[in-house]
Amino acid sequence: MLDDLFRILETRARLGRQTVAYPDGPVRLPERFRGRPALDPSRCVDGCRACAEACPTDAVLDPGSPSMRLDMGRCLFCADCQQACPEGALRFTRDYRLSMRTREGLRAAGDEPRLAEALDRKMRRLFGRSLRLRQVSAAGCNGCEAELNAAGNVQFDLSRFGISFVASPRHADGLVVTGPVSENMRPALLETWKATPAPRLVVAVGACACSGGIFRDGPVQAGGMPGVPEIPVDLWIPGCPPHPITVLDGLLRLLGRIEGDALRLAGTGVVEAAGGPASSPGGAAPGRQGTSPGHV
Ligand code: SF4
Repeated sequence: MLDDLFRILETRARLGRQTVAYPDGPVRLPERFRGRPALDPSRCVDGCRACAEACPTDAVLDPGSPSMRLDMGRCLFCADCQQACPEGALRFTRDYRLSMRTREGLRAAGDEPRLAEALDRKMRRLFGRSLRLRQVSAAGCNGCEAELNAAGNVQFDLSRFGISFVASPRHADGLVVTGPVSENMRPALLETWKATPAPRLVVAVGACACSGGIFRDGPVQAGGMPGVPEIPVDLWIPGCPPHPITVLDGLLRLLGRIEGDALRLAGTGVVEAAGGPASSPGGAAPGRQGTSPGHV
């Protein structure tokens, strides 16, 4: 009996702390991780469409022009466009902070990237310390679902922030939707949303939920949440699938628990920005935007 106890303690000491330091410390990301795209349209040769022709989801908008943008909501982060571009006008950084409050916000341009804004004060008071989410896979492939599952494991540990998934919409504060929303799943999604007590949040996770992703031309799907206007979306998290840190980052920004790079938990657990709302209307606080090479 004592032997068993010592063995358990020894194993525990050997394994050490498994949970990632984020958001208090640096994020560990796999070598192949691709995050926020960085665009430099000034390098584009007039009329060049190499990136757009390589893209399987038509995610590059206005290629070869000063107004070139990359729609992260459609993007699979496959980097075929980066390889196809002879001028290096498009590359993927390791910035994992991809979530936005609006669908339009996911269209990355060559200017300063923005970060997701927090909910208003009333909603932060309601959900800032405890957020229960019901996940609806609306014809997802299980890629995003697997990453959401991973977000709750000992590595990423969503529950340390009071965020967890529940089995019933009746017990939930919001929905997390994955998949392109097939015809068959649309009524189930609407029923689940109606069954979730208001006020409720809706989070769209992954390229499929943001745009239909690779299935966007399919005949029996809605093109993700933009095709379900009855349900307003509060947070859009792109990726195919998004990394658990990207999911965690988006949720914490929505709840106002992260501003820029800093975690700012008040003693009560409810977060109030010192001297103002969680972030400026355009995104993060001034001086805290953009990629953060030191953070990855
Ligand atoms: S990385 Fe995104 S934009 Fe580039 S080719 Fe792949 S899907 Fe298209």
